[in-house]
Amino acid sequence: MAASPLAPHASRIFSFEFFPPNTPEGVEKLRACTRQLAQLKPEFFSVTFGAGGSTREHTLDTVLDIRTQGYAAAPHISCIASTRDSIRGMLQKYKDNGIRHLVALRGDLPSGLAAAGEFRYANELVAFIREEFGDTFFIEVAAYPEYHPQAKNAQDDLLNFKRKVEAGADSAITQYFYNADAYYHFVDECRAMGIGVPIVPGIMPIGRFSQLARFSDACGAEIPRWIRRKLEGYGDDTASIRAFGLDVVTDLCDDLLENDAPGLHFYTLNQAGLASTIWQRLGL
Ligand code: FAD
Repeated sequence: MAASPLAPHASRIFSFEFFPPNTPEGVEKLRACTRQLAQLKPEFFSVTFGAGGSTREHTLDTVLDIRTQGYAAAPHISCIASTRDSIRGMLQKYKDNGIRHLVALRGDLPSGLAAAGEFRYANELVAFIREEFGDTFFIEVAAYPEYHPQAKNAQDDLLNFKRKVEAGADSAITQYFYNADAYYHFVDECRAMGIGVPIVPGIMPIGRFSQLARFSDACGAEIPRWIRRKLEGYGDDTASIRAFGLDVVTDLCDDLLENDAPGLHFYTLNQAGLASTIWQRLGL
């Protein structure tokens, strides 16, 4: 297990996720967003890898930019369609830049691209990082309380999650969900299987219904029927969608924290507004 880069006093870990902007305006917007969210004193910001059409360098650039502003940041790294040499090179670059905290993923191939590369699953990436870099990095991995859409079945997915932890992951962040029971059940199952790492819930604030529905279809996160029906009913009334979404997601976070979730990881989509409102409502 790697030494945690997180503050020793942090009994709960709060973090915000960004994607790397690829225009100068996007960079400026993200800086403003970072400044606003930094006032909430999260443990770290994380920056996705390869998502949104950005290049790999944008992830490192964004992480370094956040660090230059004085805040802790962790890059995501995905291994699909990568060679061992290219991953080794990237990890070395991260290490040389003083980065000690990673979110390690398999990633998804853009549609139409055939799978290629020297890694098949995230457990292989985690094992590779440990083999090549020992305990240099504190490694987070992804977990799926509603199960990964490509998993053969739920039990298999749990076993695959366990493989990542056994390969050396220190902590996990979940896919977002709106059904707290799925998370509690998942955590109970993990504990029963001897998986002891913190499993931090991933939280997706609700801003736009069409976007949320598209993400959820792609990643297998369920929008419960009652939430979907309400959101659909609001049509283009963005204010009502946001107001309802804030109520739903604040209640979810409240429930999770009441039931001892080890923290919260917000998928911000590079917007500070919803996450900071939820934060304030929770009185964090
Ligand atoms: P894995 O853990 O490898 O699992 C993928 C699938 O393979 C699962 O169905 C699993 O059951 C199965 N599996 C795993 N191991 C084995 C095995 N040894 N044998 C057989 N089957 C196996 N994507 C990005 O591209 N960039 C990002 O920055 C990014 N950040 C993310 C952050 C978080 C917190 C989360 C939850 C997801 C993120 N994703 C990101 C999405 C992620 O890449 C996808 O969900 C991807 O499909 C799976 O990645 P994974 O690391 O969970 O894969």
